This record gives sequence, structure tokens and C-alpha cells, in this order.
Amino acid sequence: MSATLVEIVKASNLKLKPEDDKLGFGRYFTDHMLVMDYSIETGWTGPRITPYEPIALDPAAVIFHYGQTAFEGMKAYRTEDNRILLFRPEKNFSRLNASSERLSMPPINEEEVLEYVKQLISVEKDWVPTSKGTSLYIRPFIIATESFLGLAASKQYKLVVILSPVGSYYTNGIQPVNIKVEEHYTRAVRGGTGMAKTAGNYCATFNAQTKAINEGFSQVLWLDAIEKKYVEEVGTSNVFFKINGEVHTPELSGSILPGITRMSVIEMLRSWGIPVSERRISIEEIYQSYEEGLLEEVFSTGTAAVISPIGELEWQGRKIVINNKSIGAVSEKLYDTLTGIQTGKIADTFNWTTE
Ligand code: PMP
Repeated sequence: MSATLVEIVKASNLKLKPEDDKLGFGRYFTDHMLVMDYSIETGWTGPRITPYEPIALDPAAVIFHYGQTAFEGMKAYRTEDNRILLFRPEKNFSRLNASSERLSMPPINEEEVLEYVKQLISVEKDWVPTSKGTSLYIRPFIIATESFLGLAASKQYKLVVILSPVGSYYTNGIQPVNIKVEEHYTRAVRGGTGMAKTAGNYCATFNAQTKAINEGFSQVLWLDAIEKKYVEEVGTSNVFFKINGEVHTPELSGSILPGITRMSVIEMLRSWGIPVSERRISIEEIYQSYEEGLLEEVFSTGTAAVISPIGELEWQGRKIVINNKSIGAVSEKLYDTLTGIQTGKIADTFNWTTE
């Protein structure tokens, strides 16, 4: 595969890098970014690494009016012996293409763009933080840039990849969280855009999220849009229930984002001989299994926290307390094994990491 960058324009002034303990999430950005352009006549052209800088767009660009856009989120981890690892990055680029397809946007060449992103990371390798739990967050996104107010898919796009050093998600150790089952708002609907990583899915959750935080919860659990009966996701992560020795997670119905951590957890659990079923799960069933004493662990999965144990669910004023609000054995083993593989501490028998 020959993936040659057209050019690298180095930034003349490099930024001061923040201390690892000040990082937080998505506040600091590195010195360079990757850019590529698309037009219907030429396809994707001009891959280049440029200084990190504002993007100038026509005020009539389609992105501003009709939200035609897709993004990804993944991380680069520094190992103890100073290598830099990506975790299943090819899955992120194939999901980006799946999102683009849903948003009537053109596909990228996944292998080629991954090569460019690796080149960007190697230009910015000193930005990959070293402290435990830190990483370099990678945010590829595509925006529709044609200036045209007619309601039609843009004929021009820009792909940009920016990098942000991020802190540990668990600065005070893993604490199981309280989750509110959301009864009013909806995140996504079958046939809609829920399976795509696109801007509108995220701003549509802010009201519910703010309300839940004000009520003392850390996130909401989304139910299906139509019957408000079946479990979908928790915040921006996938959700798993361990009931009587078996693990259950909502099936990918079109309204759920197919998480890469979700996929990895399913494969890992099965490799350990723990049965996993992907199916429709009603909140009523979860409540019943709790009442029968069979609900053993609940956790959510995603790039940000990897595994986040859930200590309590509140549904229609009823509280479901899980594992005495402490992390369960399976959740903990998944967390240790996944983060161990990501940071090179544990042998990657699944072949998930790329240097
Ligand atoms: N659901 C939603 C809505 C998300 O935004 C994310 C984060 N990408 C996830 C689930 C988890 O996906 P992943 O494991 O690929 O981070």
C-alpha cells in the first residue's frame, strides 16, 4: 500500500505541552493536523499535515445548515517501553465510512487514511502523554463544505484529523456510577441516524444529560424511541448486563452505535467461555432480574472509560442497586485486560493493537 502524503508543513511555533495531571478531556490540541479535500470531480485529494489552525468556510457551507458531518474517536497509548499503540484503528475507519454512507457522504480509503493518521501521530509523538491512564485522543471528522443552501448532499467535503492529549478517566479510581433511565427524551430511532457518529445525535442529548446531572446522576440510560421499553445505550457508551452468569447486551438495531469496545468485550467474554447474547432487553426484565436477585453486574463500554461499572439505575422512581454499588469481578477483569492490551502490559493475543 503506497500512502504518500502530499506535504508536511511544520508549525513554526510549537505550543507548550500541558502537565499530565492538568489534561482533562479535549481541552488541548497538538501542533499539527491532517487535512484532505473531496470534490465530486476529483475524489479525495491533497492529503497533508499542516499546522493546527482555524478552518475558513463559506457561511453557506452545507455543514452549518444541514449538519452533514461524521466523526470518530479513538486513542493512541504509550507503553512502558515507549512504543505508541493504536487499538483496532481499522474498525474506527470502517465505522467512519458506515457513518458517511448514512449521511450521503463519500467513502474514504480506510487503509490510506489510517496510514496518514499514523504519520500525523509520529510527527506529534512527543504529545502522547506518559502517566497512567493518559492517552492521545484522535478525532477524525468530515464536514460538508459546498456553499449551497439547496437541500441536497454536498459535492465537496473536508476530512480533518486533530489530536488531543487526554487525562485519565479515573483520577480517583473506578467508582460505579448512578444512572437515570430516561423516560422523556429520545436519542435515536430505528431507521434514523443512531448507528452513525454524527453531530446531531450528540447535541440532541444535551438537555437530558444536563437534567440528569442536576438530579444527581452521572448519565442517562436511553430506551427505544417508540415503546420506551427496550434498553439501548448509556450516555455515549454501550451497555452490558450480567444476569445469572450470562452477559446480555442490546442487539445492533440501527439506533445504537456499534461500539468498538462493545465488539471487543463480546469477543473477549466469549474467549473466556462466558456466554454473551445480543438481543432486545426490556427495562422491565432488568428490574425483574434484580428483584429475583439475579442481576449481578451492569457496566457500560466505550473508548473514553473503557469499562464503567454502574452501581445504581433509577427507573420510574424505583432503584436498582447493583453488586452493592461496587465493581463486579467480570467488569474488573475486562477493564484490566483491555487496558493491559491497549498499553502493552498484557500480551495482545487477539491481535488488536497496531504500533
Ligand atoms: N455509543 C455512542 C453513542 C458513542 O458515541 C460511543 C463512543 N464512540 C459509544 C457508544 C462507544 O463506542 P466505542 O467503544 O467505539 O468508543
